[in-house]
Amino acid sequence: MKTEINGETGIMGIIGGNINKTLSPFLHNTLLKHYSLNDCYLPFQISTDQLPAAIEGLKALNIKGVNITVPFKEKSMEFLDKVENSALRIGAINTIVHKDKLLFGYNTDFIGFKRSLMEEKEIEIKGKSAIVLGAGGAARAIIYALCQEAIKEISIFNRTLDKARKIEKEYHAFFPDCPIRIFPIGDRCLQDKINRVDFLINTTSLGSYPDINLNPLPENILLNQHLIAYDLIYFPAKTSFLRQAEKAGAKTINGGQMLVYQAVESFYLWTGIRPEMEIVRQLIHKFHSKNAVISNQ
Ligand code: NAP
Repeated sequence: MKTEINGETGIMGIIGGNINKTLSPFLHNTLLKHYSLNDCYLPFQISTDQLPAAIEGLKALNIKGVNITVPFKEKSMEFLDKVENSALRIGAINTIVHKDKLLFGYNTDFIGFKRSLMEEKEIEIKGKSAIVLGAGGAARAIIYALCQEAIKEISIFNRTLDKARKIEKEYHAFFPDCPIRIFPIGDRCLQDKINRVDFLINTTSLGSYPDINLNPLPENILLNQHLIAYDLIYFPAKTSFLRQAEKAGAKTINGGQMLVYQAVESFYLWTGIRPEMEIVRQLIHKFHSKNAVISNQ
């Protein structure tokens, strides 16, 4: 963002149902400022009944693009002119690009997740195995990324088994070589599977602000030091799940890096600028500092 908003300032933003704690404006405005672009990124908190008008309004107001977050990632696809293939398969978008009077939908969450592991932490996915807790929109993006990178096996544990069943069925058509098994969250085999897998990934919202003491794992589950425990939640920075994993000696990752990488991908779609690694690293650092301050407030 230039120091002054003027008649030519381009507008981007985020549309969500409860975004008063979102750090997306911080991330995008930091990037816009770094590249001296005459654009700004704003929060648009709306109710469900306002979604069609809000998306249609992007055209009327000539907004360059928006991120879409909970709970509109699936529903908003209906109002777009075109949806990119991966987003169609995942069944959710998190980015809209407004170009040539048309609205295009993308999913950058799955790219953000992959980059947070493979580039940021240099962790390979190929040939490993994973437990995914949850079967909502974020789980679909994570499982898509894991299958794309040739993971050996995925076990989904979710409260609502039908949602997990839907993922298993749909993804089998795209990734026939990747076995996906599904279980109710309290299934007795969870401990045995945890003892044997490489990744334990929480994609449920359990443990996020304000219910920060909730944990997606049933009581008495033991974790171990061989696990990579990944929580998509970044607020609070250290969830009850990650604290438990850290105590057991596991490697822990929160959702902060994924958030930064998905933002960087959305930024590229809107501006054509791919931030260099050095800039991404600085952004991650700034994000963690800002998040720590907010988490302690
Ligand atoms: P969603 O579609 O609403 O899915 C929520 C998931 O949590 C479902 O599996 C749901 O189970 C489960 N869940 C919710 N309350 C539960 C409860 N009381 N007991 C058991 N399971 C429960 O939401 P989403 O879009 O997937 O997002 C999930 C989380 O990921 C959120 O915290 C979000 O902020 C985070 N996220 C982070 C990033 C990032 O960049 N770091 C990106 C995307 C999402 P049911 O299916 O049984 O309802």
